Amino acid sequence: MPEGKIIKALSGFYYVANEDGVVQCRGRGVFRKNKVTPLVGDEVVFQAENDTEGYIMEVKERKNELVRPPIANVDQAILVFSAVEPDFSTALLDRFLVLVEYNHIEPLICITKMDLTKEEQQVRLEKYAEDYRKAGYEVIFTSSETSEGLEKLKPHIEGKISVFAGQSGVGKSSLLNAIRPDLELKTDDISSHLGRGKHTTRHVELITINNGLVADTPGFSSLEFTEIEAEELNSCFPEIREISEDCKFRGCLHMAEPKCAVKAAVESETLPEYRYSHYKDFLLEIKDRKPRY
Ligand code: GDP
Ligand code: ZN
Repeated sequence: MPEGKIIKALSGFYYVANEDGVVQCRGRGVFRKNKVTPLVGDEVVFQAENDTEGYIMEVKERKNELVRPPIANVDQAILVFSAVEPDFSTALLDRFLVLVEYNHIEPLICITKMDLTKEEQQVRLEKYAEDYRKAGYEVIFTSSETSEGLEKLKPHIEGKISVFAGQSGVGKSSLLNAIRPDLELKTDDISSHLGRGKHTTRHVELITINNGLVADTPGFSSLEFTEIEAEELNSCFPEIREISEDCKFRGCLHMAEPKCAVKAAVESETLPEYRYSHYKDFLLEIKDRKPRY
């Protein structure tokens, strides 16, 4: 039986794509029994009724699953931040990074609107980029206005399922339009769903850009750590996770414990103070389960 990937879900139909084209499929009753609802991004086995219609017979095991927007098998989150308007914030970036790491998705940090920056802002952002690169992250500076960095960004999209994430107004839809001009997303279109409950039934679609698939709806609309346990936070900061292997106590939370390698790393300036400070903020937030900002 043929296989393919669900690229769109709308009104009870699943649009399954493979090299032969797109087939409009219905789910079979078996999904309702097993409580598996097919998701956009799912790899499925389907039975073709004819060239354009069929039935989904099996949903392959998922690598991960996002709730908002509902997409399976996301490879990469492109975290879009504007250099200015609104100003770049490491607190917000670290919050996105934790959620992305927790979901086992590869993050890519994109700092856009670089055409609006002054030199002193560029110097400051370069310093941050250096810190994040040292922590193991890819950082790309872009501008949808001047096309700066777009050729660097494009190859990262190839062969993957990506979601764009970031605050409203940072430039996500402008970036998508800039890397694929024929798309013509309205600039406030992609962001109008961010953090709003009333559009929850809106369909999700994967659009083809540069030989990759990109969700047409931004990911990580909820920025709360509702599922993360205190002990799991350590592994959501890759460089802290690495340093913590030298903490005296297994399961050290890097707070009041003695001989903590993470606190020592902050003191010797091998770990940026703000990364540790966000780690502590998030840990306290998880412990009282109330968002602090
Ligand atoms: P989104 O809400 O994240 O999708 O943000 P938009 O793409 O709608 O952009 C928000 C505003 O910022 C719009 O007025 C865009 O024209 C502007 N903008 C986006 N990217 C850039 C950029 O690289 N340079 C400049 N100068 N303005 C930008
Ligand atoms: Zn420690």
